[in-house]
Amino acid sequence: MNYSSTCDCGEIKINVCFPLPIDEYQARACDCDFCVPRELAYLSDVNGTISFSPRNKMNQLKQGSGQATFWQCSNCKQVVAVTNTSKGETRGAVSKAIFAKKFSLKPSAFISPKNLSPKEKIERWPTVWSKVV
Ligand SMILES: [Zn+2]
Repeated sequence: MNYSSTCDCGEIKINVCFPLPIDEYQARACDCDFCVPRELAYLSDVNGTISFSPRNKMNQLKQGSGQATFWQCSNCKQVVAVTNTSKGETRGAVSKAIFAKKFSLKPSAFISPKNLSPKEKIERWPTVWSKVV
């Protein structure tokens, strides 16, 4: 199923293709110091794909162990996605807020990736994140 939305100002376009309807997914709210103040929660399906553009209008932010890249609209400052590139493959998740304004989504689940080691995080992402295309 294909879904598209934009950041708050409309500059950044985000598309996802998930096997199930988007309202069947429970977003994961991260409890780290970066995500909590921004109220970030993430949607992905390991068998889905995500894409976002134009990347030249986005800031790439790092936090914590520095392994993940947070993609932020350089105009409205909304974080739209998080990605990691490992072994030549980029995977990521989209911000729930991007799609929550257009679709009725389930309450988020709370997760604590900050309790994982850098190695554990790298190993976890391919099991939950979507392919970035
Ligand atoms: Zn924007």
